[in-house]
Amino acid sequence: MKTQAAILVEQKQPLVIDEIEIPCLTVGQVLVELTATRICGSQIGEIDGVKGADRWLPHLLGHEGCGRVLEIGLGVQWVKPGDRVVLHWRLGQGIQAPSPLYRWQGKNVNAGNITTFNRHAIISENRLTRIPDSVSDDIACLLADTLTTGFGIINNNARVKIGESVVVIGAGGIGLGVILGAHLAGAYPIIAADIVDAKLEIAKKYGATHCVNTKTAELNNAVKEICGCPFVDVCIDGTGNPKVIETAYALTAKHGRTILFGVMHHEHKVAIHTLPLHFGKILTGSEGGDSQPHLDIPRYIRMMQAKRFDPSGFVSHYGKLEDINTLIAQMRNGEVVHAIIRF
Ligand SMILES: [Zn+2]
Repeated sequence: MKTQAAILVEQKQPLVIDEIEIPCLTVGQVLVELTATRICGSQIGEIDGVKGADRWLPHLLGHEGCGRVLEIGLGVQWVKPGDRVVLHWRLGQGIQAPSPLYRWQGKNVNAGNITTFNRHAIISENRLTRIPDSVSDDIACLLADTLTTGFGIINNNARVKIGESVVVIGAGGIGLGVILGAHLAGAYPIIAADIVDAKLEIAKKYGATHCVNTKTAELNNAVKEICGCPFVDVCIDGTGNPKVIETAYALTAKHGRTILFGVMHHEHKVAIHTLPLHFGKILTGSEGGDSQPHLDIPRYIRMMQAKRFDPSGFVSHYGKLEDINTLIAQMRNGEVVHAIIRF
């Protein structure tokens, strides 16, 4: 069986859209027909080689999506054919299956436990969570990472308490999930910082009490003005930019938490005074907000069904798989809040 895919053939080059050959299923693997996938900043990082040289080329990409189960491999017990599922990169329940090897132009194409930039994908059972048919594609894609990671950063990494002050630097993508999470957790103030006004506008709709465009204003001054002191309890960075990370750390109070979710380029470094870390200040990198998709996703769906929040306005751009390189370019320009590919 063949399917359409966007393949990373070379780093720092556009993805190649072509047909690939799908292998047979083995133990713990699930064949899913995708209906939608979100493009995440992580994939741009992979294309750019943020973590270094890529020894898996050519390979498939994408780690947030939704679709329907077509076929299951031996041993799979948590999903069955016909089930609607969220595809997520964090570990859920079930078997950790071997990674599939696809074929393209007589060559092997590598793939991880999950890929979503291919219409039909072989996914490890533990990267799937069943959801009701009533959940829209947009929401399902957001549940895969934006909401689970965003809320997880607030709940598990930052452990925000009611009334704590929070700064989120980078208000698009996961940052918007973090802002909504801070709102649901009762933080105040919630200061969103970004260089794009359109993103700050949306952040305001989803819980930011104050917005700072750091192109035109100093974040330090804004915090002083808003909080009446130069520090916040929690400062969360999504930019991965060394200077911004230094600012985030400096803005964090004595017993506060600096949480990084934007991944810094592997050749970059930050300069910080570490003494406060001995006295209660925390600086840490988040790995998907320590989320547990199989437990978190049903909980958030219940909340949305009860109309406690509705993130459907997060999505600003749509396209087909053929449009993926254009959408990625738009993400690089900073104009995208969330971009979704519809198959
Ligand atoms: Zn992601």
